[in-house]
Amino acid sequence: MPTSRRPRVSLLVTDLDNTLWDWFAIWHASFSTLLDVLINLSGIDGTVLEHEIRKIHQERGTSEYSHLLQEIPSLADAHPGADLAEIYGEAISASRSAREQAMVLYPGVLEALREIRSRGTQIIGYTESQAFYTTYRVKKLELDGVMDVLYSPPDHDFPKGVNASQLRTRPDSEYELQVTQHRSTPPGEVKPSARVLETIIRDASRQCTEVAYVGDSLMKDVAMAQTVGVADVHAKYGVVVGRDAYALLQRVSHWPESDVRNEEALRTKSAITPSIVLERGFYELPDVFDFTSP
Ligand SMILES: [Mg+2]
Repeated sequence: MPTSRRPRVSLLVTDLDNTLWDWFAIWHASFSTLLDVLINLSGIDGTVLEHEIRKIHQERGTSEYSHLLQEIPSLADAHPGADLAEIYGEAISASRSAREQAMVLYPGVLEALREIRSRGTQIIGYTESQAFYTTYRVKKLELDGVMDVLYSPPDHDFPKGVNASQLRTRPDSEYELQVTQHRSTPPGEVKPSARVLETIIRDASRQCTEVAYVGDSLMKDVAMAQTVGVADVHAKYGVVVGRDAYALLQRVSHWPESDVRNEEALRTKSAITPSIVLERGFYELPDVFDFTSP
């Protein structure tokens, strides 16, 4: 497309999980390792553990709950009064190293974001994943400073007497963002609710016509962008619904059962048609718009 025909965009809002990196692969590597080692060490049936874990995830509002193991009832019953993190330390460390290994950006993400930024366009991240893991990933994947602002929910409630610092295995400076500004989204606001995206655009003093939003979920990201009236971009390369391994996430996820079913239904009959589709990768994005400064 000739440059003049491409829509001008001075604010790019991007989803993070499965848009910039394969959150599902990271989650699956980490969680399936934890579960497998727990089953082996404890001898407790996998379906029992999955059932108990789902309840904990729903209570905590996340499927990445760092204190999970310590709250699994059947493990607590098997070792009354014992320190479960110590007994099952092997599961924790195996899961952690599987997660670290899986933590990479999709190809070309960093280069594409830097290119867009070099044209003067503001870049804002908006995720539903909680602050603890999100800021760690942003930092680890060298995105601190590439995004101007990051919006995420605050952390889940930690167990009594435990705070974020105690859950960190490295110094705080490895987790906190130095350049990108971190802002919390209000409790209970989830995509595709338009409210947070509208706030982001207002806070950035932009009009909807100057904004593009990119994300992998038709139901959440694309639907939200269309409601708000910004240019919607579907990160199709990031879609994982339907992968065999995805069933594990559906079984233990904090998502309400209705969300899981809706997502499946959407996969088979696509009710939402995105305006722009990135088929192969995020690296296609710089050519889609005329990215400019405001
Ligand atoms: Mg996503």
